[in-house]
Amino acid sequence: MSNIIFGPITSRRFGQSLGIDLSPSSKQCNFDCLYCELKGAKTVDKASDVPSVTAVLNALNEALLKHHNLDVITLTANGEPTLYPELDTLVDGIIKIKKETKLLILSNGSTIVDTSIQNILSKLDIVKLSLDCVSPKCFKKLDRAHKGIEINQIIEGMKAFRKRYLGELVVEILVVDGLNDTLDEFKALNAVLHEIKPDRIDVGTIDRPPAYEVKGVSIERLLELASLLEGLHVNIAYKKNYIPQKRHFNEEEILELLKRRPQSFEDIALCFDEQSLENLNSLVEEKCLYVKNIAGVDFYKVVL
Ligand code: SF4
Repeated sequence: MSNIIFGPITSRRFGQSLGIDLSPSSKQCNFDCLYCELKGAKTVDKASDVPSVTAVLNALNEALLKHHNLDVITLTANGEPTLYPELDTLVDGIIKIKKETKLLILSNGSTIVDTSIQNILSKLDIVKLSLDCVSPKCFKKLDRAHKGIEINQIIEGMKAFRKRYLGELVVEILVVDGLNDTLDEFKALNAVLHEIKPDRIDVGTIDRPPAYEVKGVSIERLLELASLLEGLHVNIAYKKNYIPQKRHFNEEEILELLKRRPQSFEDIALCFDEQSLENLNSLVEEKCLYVKNIAGVDFYKVVL
């Protein structure tokens, strides 16, 4: 089943990635998010139409012979990959053949409250979970989860998982106009994220046609909302054609900015004018700043 494997894809967030689709035939998800890139579908609580573990491992073995220098193998699905019934066996099989390549999963976070899922995901190098909102009202409207899935339980599951997980935990927020784009929602997200303690937060908005009639927000609004996530490693997904206004920062201002929140290389390259970039480089040379790589994204941080 060659459609199980896709890529390699060069991703700004994780590097050179080979994807594994655990639901190649149809959408099987326990969410029906308004912004989904796949057509809307009835939610399910388990995936039944899936490739076998042997089929996935054979396809992966074949792909690994062709593609070298991969940074990550990404477990994903047309839907939710943790609904794959033999996930534990599959993860063990991939770990046996992946060598140095990191193993990543992209999950909507719905099953993280389940300790057996936590056990499986603990074996991965990078776990990326979605958390679009904190308030139950927003979660219900935006992510449209299967009956019985509650946002409060997901948040508690994420906190418990973080406590035991030694790999890199990334949380993704996708911002939708008129739904989770409020200051109140982001202040609540900021508080909860400080409790979950992910290594990185990816903030983005809709950039491909969504399943339902919803719109993304402007990059300016995204930046304003992201600025409420204080002291966290925030990685903003800029649209390809975004032309930002370059700003000037002296050394003191750069230190202040980075003390409030580490900035990714991409943020700096897009928003700093030339003189500010020189100031930043001087601070690096003076060892006032250092670079930290989190799940493939470099951030500038202040030496404390
Ligand atoms: S969790 Fe992912 S696959 Fe499922 S509906 Fe939401 S966006 Fe689509």
